[in-house]
Amino acid sequence: MSVSASEWLQRIHAMALPRTVKIMNVCGGHERSISMAGLRAALPANIELIPGPGCPVCVCPEEDVYCAIQLALRERVMLVAFGDMLRVPVNAPKSEARSLEQARATGADIRPIATPMEAVRIARANRDVPVVFFAAGFETTSAPVAAMLIEGVPGNLYVLLSGRLTWPAVAMLLDSGTPGFDALIAPGHVSTIMGPEEWQFVVDKHGLPAAVAGFTPESLLAATYSVLRQIQEQRYFLDNCYAEVAHPDGNPTARQQLADAFDVIDAPWRGVGTIPASGFALKPAYAAHDARRRFPIHGDDARKRAGEMPLGCDCAKVVLGKIRPNECFLFGRACTPQHPIGPCMVSDEGACRIWWASGIRESNKMAMS
Ligand code: SF4
Repeated sequence: MSVSASEWLQRIHAMALPRTVKIMNVCGGHERSISMAGLRAALPANIELIPGPGCPVCVCPEEDVYCAIQLALRERVMLVAFGDMLRVPVNAPKSEARSLEQARATGADIRPIATPMEAVRIARANRDVPVVFFAAGFETTSAPVAAMLIEGVPGNLYVLLSGRLTWPAVAMLLDSGTPGFDALIAPGHVSTIMGPEEWQFVVDKHGLPAAVAGFTPESLLAATYSVLRQIQEQRYFLDNCYAEVAHPDGNPTARQQLADAFDVIDAPWRGVGTIPASGFALKPAYAAHDARRRFPIHGDDARKRAGEMPLGCDCAKVVLGKIRPNECFLFGRACTPQHPIGPCMVSDEGACRIWWASGIRESNKMAMS
């Protein structure tokens, strides 16, 4: 028999917890469900739900966005990207295009797409033009890109890959010794691809409770109850509260496609730095479709120095769960969805944008006197 959200809340409120408990989620979809359902306010005050590294657009390196802009402007390629990427700002001077959207306004051919197959279709329909697919995303987005390459793409389609794996960011936080959370709600979508057991290290290596959750309030509260009960009983394990969708071993076909198309490399995360074994790169077999090889001039190393967040933007701290979105001074002041300063206010999976959409409109950080 399924348990309703209000029943889960009753069970959680009935628990006698020894202390404040901080629970991190690492999925933009989880954060959206938590915020929109008002789960934070419904939970006891000593339980804090912390948004973590769950937004691939937010962590996409500044130099990759800049490279995409330059390819569209200077090489006159047709550039396609998932819609969220178009408004992500880079740290270019105001006289230059600072986002793909601004580059498009100056005449660059930049088109939003929703699926990799759209990129293939556009390349097939425009065979005399190089088409660059700027593919940023986590495992769930990278797997269809891998499938696309394996199935075969037109010779004029190049991939500017900015794929990332989620678990290494959590591992980095835990390895730091100051992760800032006591339990993990592991991402449901990623677990459907990679398998829930990918998160077993949180329990085995770090001795923290973990639970995979789906996207309904019921599933998120079930996972919350699970990790709280584990803390209460001091008996830690990985609980799968999304077992109807996230099966053991995940999706073996998708995992094999990821392994066949991509190497796993150390990769930069915007504002965070390089995280070991956290990125995807095209295997040599797909070099002919690698935009970084086809247009090497725009992989400008100098950008890596400018690759931090825009001035005053605390996105990197938000992504790592070190501060809450409204603890950024710019939140709701200079930075809104209409005028985003940083990527966390651009993407639908960005914590700042989600918090804004849920009705939180003001920063609680005072100006420095
Ligand atoms: Fe960055 Fe804006 Fe979020 Fe501040 S409110 S962290 S400036 S995206």
